[in-house]
Parts: sequence; structure tokens; C-alpha cells
Amino acid sequence: MPDTEKLVIVGSGPAGLTAAIYAARAALKPLMFEGFSAGGLIPGGQLMFTTDVENYPGFPRGVLGPDMMKAFRDQAERFGTRFITQDVSEIDFRNRPFTIKSDEHTVTAHAVIIATGARANWLNLPNEQRLAKSGGGVSACAVCDGALPMFRNQELAVVGGGDSAIEEGSYLTKFAKKVYLIHRRDELRASKAMQQRFFKLVEEKKMEPVWNAAIDDVLGENAITGVKLKDLKTGATRDLPLRGLFMAIGHTPNTELFTGQIDLDDKKYIKLAQPHNTYTNIEGVFAAGDVADHVYRQAVTAAGTGCMAALDAERWLAAQGFGE
Ligand code: NAP
Repeated sequence: MPDTEKLVIVGSGPAGLTAAIYAARAALKPLMFEGFSAGGLIPGGQLMFTTDVENYPGFPRGVLGPDMMKAFRDQAERFGTRFITQDVSEIDFRNRPFTIKSDEHTVTAHAVIIATGARANWLNLPNEQRLAKSGGGVSACAVCDGALPMFRNQELAVVGGGDSAIEEGSYLTKFAKKVYLIHRRDELRASKAMQQRFFKLVEEKKMEPVWNAAIDDVLGENAITGVKLKDLKTGATRDLPLRGLFMAIGHTPNTELFTGQIDLDDKKYIKLAQPHNTYTNIEGVFAAGDVADHVYRQAVTAAGTGCMAALDAERWLAAQGFGE
């Protein structure tokens, strides 16, 4: 390996791998730490836990998440990206070149693209995780999975009281017989506009709130059949039959590694220095994908910002005289 890399990319979801494709084609010979198990993720990121991806342009019949990520990786490798299949354990942005360490490797680099993504929050109930991993009707992404035939004309539920819960619940009403919104309080956190949208759907009997409720268990062997609900005011429990359950209880960005070194916003997402590019507050460090985006969070937007980060890094490296 060369003494100092031009560009290291940390993270191997759509953002990291798209950055790698562009950087490799620009002859930057990027080195990617594709991760191993950090944040509960594996190389390829969140899409490795998704079954059918039906909204990524170019796949009119859909594509399996893991197959799509393999294609991204093959494309990055074809143009010369090198991979280290380990988690980064330490990164030092205080001195240039930057130092990036994993269990077995220590690398220095002139530029770094952070594409470590975010992870959906779950309730972390055993049956929830089992049915989510087996495609049994439990998901943390209504926009990704809600249009699958298994959910058509069924009773579904979304969990949470924020903008995402309402947006995703409202999306699900296009296919479902009815969508319950299960929330742990009797007041929504969502914006006023979103609340109006929700109460209109309630009036139309497309959605129904279940207030002050916690899910104690997810029911069903191979596919969800319902949830065990606990009323947080009275303590009473009851079963609610369901054919789909969608978590919308927020995301956690994978920024633990950078805390104290790079500017984060109040939700711990990386703060971009300016709109419409991928510069962070540290010169030579760029961020792409969900790690810097709590709003859109789509594979296609992550890929788009990955491309932007590679172009930003390429121009920055050239300006520093590291381009050749
Ligand atoms: P959020 O605003 O943090 O809301 C998360 C919701 O999940 C809250 O209602 C919270 O309950 C609930 N929750 C959290 N942990 C829970 C747990 N363990 N068990 C049960 N419920 C739990 O997250 P978000 O809705 O994903 O929104 C994130 C950001 O993106 C926000 O800034 C939002 O405005 C923005 N966003 C905007 C749009 C839009 O404008 N179109 C769409 C989506 C997201 P509590 O309320 O009791 O805390």
C-alpha cells in the first residue's frame, strides 16, 4: 500500500460505494473501509437487510437489496477500489494527513469521505427482530417495503408520533385497508401541518390512533399476525391483529467515531459546512449519505451525495496538489 492514501472512504452503503466508483474512475485509487459489524450493520449497509427494492431507478421489476449492493461493490472494484473488511476503530482528524485505524490496519490519507450511514431505531423485541430479518411483515421503512403485495388491503400499523410516523402512515394508506398509529403518548411530536394531515386521514377512517400504547410483543410465527399492546395509563394489555408493522421511532446516525472531532448537529448528524456540497468543517473531510441527512434517507439520495463527495474530494485534492 502507498504510504499516504489520497482518499479513504469509510462506509459501504450506496453513498460510500458511489463515491468509490467516481473516485476510482478519477484515478484516485480509493481505499474503502467497508466495515464488518459496527452499528449492527454489515458491509453494504442498511440495504443488506432489505428484501425487494422497488424504488431505485433502473430496476423496473425491483431488485433485492443485497444483490443491488453487490452490484455497486463490483462496479467500485472494477475501477480499482481497494477494500478493507474491518470496522474503523479510531480516526484522527486533528493532524494531516489523517490517520484511520482498524484492528489490523493503520492508514494515513489526505482526504476522507465519511459515509457511515444511520441505523433505524427499533423497539428491540425478540420477535420484532426475527420477523424483520425474515421478511415477515415487520419493517423500519414504509417507503421501501409498504407497497409489497403482502400489505395490500390489510390492517397495518406504524409506531411513533413524529413526522416520519405520519408521513409513512399516510403513504401506507394508499395500499392498506387501515393504518393504526401506535404512539406512547396522547400528543403528537409531529409538526402542525403533519398533524392536520393525520387528523384528516383519521376523519376519512384511513388511519386510527392508538394512544398511550406500548408494544409488549410482536405475534406470529413466519409472518406477523398482530401485536400485544399495553395501555400505559391503565396497564391493561390486549392483542391488536395486524399484517404489517412499521417502525418510525427515529434513526441514529453512525457518528460515534467522530464525536468531538467534527461538527455534529443536535441530533448527532454530521453538519455540512455549506448547502449543496459535502464539505464538513474539517478541510479534506467530506460526508455523504444518511450520516449527514435525516430528511430524505433514500438509497438514491445517498448515492447522489456519494457522487458529490467524490467530485468535491477530487477537486479539493487537485487544489492541494495531491491530484496526480
Ligand atoms: P422524531 O421526530 O424523533 O420522532 C420519533 C417518534 O418516535 C416520537 O414520537 C417518539 O415518541 C417515538 N419514539 C422514540 N423512541 C421510542 C420508543 N422506544 N418507543 C416508542 N416510541 C418511541 O423522528 P422522526 O419522526 O423520524 O423525524 C426525524 C426528523 O426528520 C424530524 O426533524 C422531522 O421533522 C424530520 N422529518 C420531516 C418530514 C417532513 O417534514 N416531511 C418527514 C419525516 C421526518 P415521543 O414523541 O414520546 O418522544
